[in-house]
Amino acid sequence: MTDLVIRNAELLDCTGNDPRAGVDVAVSGSLISGVGPGAGSSPDRVIDASGLTLMPGLTDAHVHMGLVSSAGDIGDLPWIDYVFAVRRVIENTLQEGFTTVRDAGGLDPRWARLVEQGVIAGPRILPSGSVLSQTGGHGDLRPAHHIEHPRGSIPGLSATPEVVDGVDEVRRAAREQLRKGATQVKVFSSGGVLSPTDPFDSLQFSYEELRAAVEAAADWHTYVLAHCHTSDAIRRALSAGIRSIEHASLLDEDAARRIVDSDAFAVVTLAVKYDLLEDPEKAGLTPSQLTKLRAVESEVGRSIEIMGETGVKVGSGSDIVGPLQDRRGRELPNKAKFMSPKEAIAAATAVNAELFYMEDQIGAVEEGKEADLILVEGRPLDEIEVLADPDRILAVIKGGRIYKDTQGRTLPA
Ligand SMILES: [Zn+2]
Repeated sequence: MTDLVIRNAELLDCTGNDPRAGVDVAVSGSLISGVGPGAGSSPDRVIDASGLTLMPGLTDAHVHMGLVSSAGDIGDLPWIDYVFAVRRVIENTLQEGFTTVRDAGGLDPRWARLVEQGVIAGPRILPSGSVLSQTGGHGDLRPAHHIEHPRGSIPGLSATPEVVDGVDEVRRAAREQLRKGATQVKVFSSGGVLSPTDPFDSLQFSYEELRAAVEAAADWHTYVLAHCHTSDAIRRALSAGIRSIEHASLLDEDAARRIVDSDAFAVVTLAVKYDLLEDPEKAGLTPSQLTKLRAVESEVGRSIEIMGETGVKVGSGSDIVGPLQDRRGRELPNKAKFMSPKEAIAAATAVNAELFYMEDQIGAVEEGKEADLILVEGRPLDEIEVLADPDRILAVIKGGRIYKDTQGRTLPA
């Protein structure tokens, strides 16, 4: 029994095939039940996709949907304002064509449950909960002259970084995130651009501490992602068994080869860097933060080239923070400055799906996969900017359900 057929689309299936014109895609329940001319008999509803590209829903491996205040997380916001701000970000993300996202820290896993239960119309969320940071690390938000930490997480609502030291504390904090519903564990294993006290090239967490997080995650049948900018930090993270290297902005060939040999992934995040550089004053960057950011920006293109030459699997993340988080799809044209549009789209579909261990469920338009589909104006391979323009994402379907149809193309059959 067919619930929906999308007729006469130009299909970009993201399996590696070239686009094909005149394709029908059938949906039964939450799954794709047929792909090809004439797929799906006597459907309940039909979408006429003539002149449009049909492709899998986009994915983002590095979002921070809970970091909606200028201070990062809930900041000084009243709780009720925070609830509405986060809800808006989650809903917009789906409307912009993202059907699965991995939150890289700051979002309490409860938000993912609310989407699952249908309370919020958002993308499938893979939450990391609170990020683990060492004392003085990227997640230690105290200025140097403060002793007390700022307000911590509000369980069930917000998830600020956990500052922990030593194998036992790291293990306990990792298990605590998993208990609360995190689907993977996030750590900070190098310095960062925006944190107040840590040098950018500092190594954070010892090998043993990182290993404790990896073991806690592996026992839960999941993995660790690490904020990790420099080659030295990447080498240490990989040796501890970390699967997902976030940012990897200053990467040398040796570190790239080790990512390949470890069957790990690099998640390149460009949108946030260009955002901050576009208007450093408005972003409130200090001179030292701006210096760090410019250093990263000048190197990141070469790092992505090295990934390409070495065969590193490149996933895609926007890393956007703040109250708006609009136009998350900008990450794709940004990536296409350094790789082909096809590779940039693969990063945000099939490669992320493999990174999430979800390649059997999402990331391509194939029979048996989740019916996570978007209809796009124009041809993304020729004009990747369309994926950054929410107005040109005309329809969004997640798990077989239509969440957006701006042109009213859905009709009873
Ligand atoms: Zn991040």
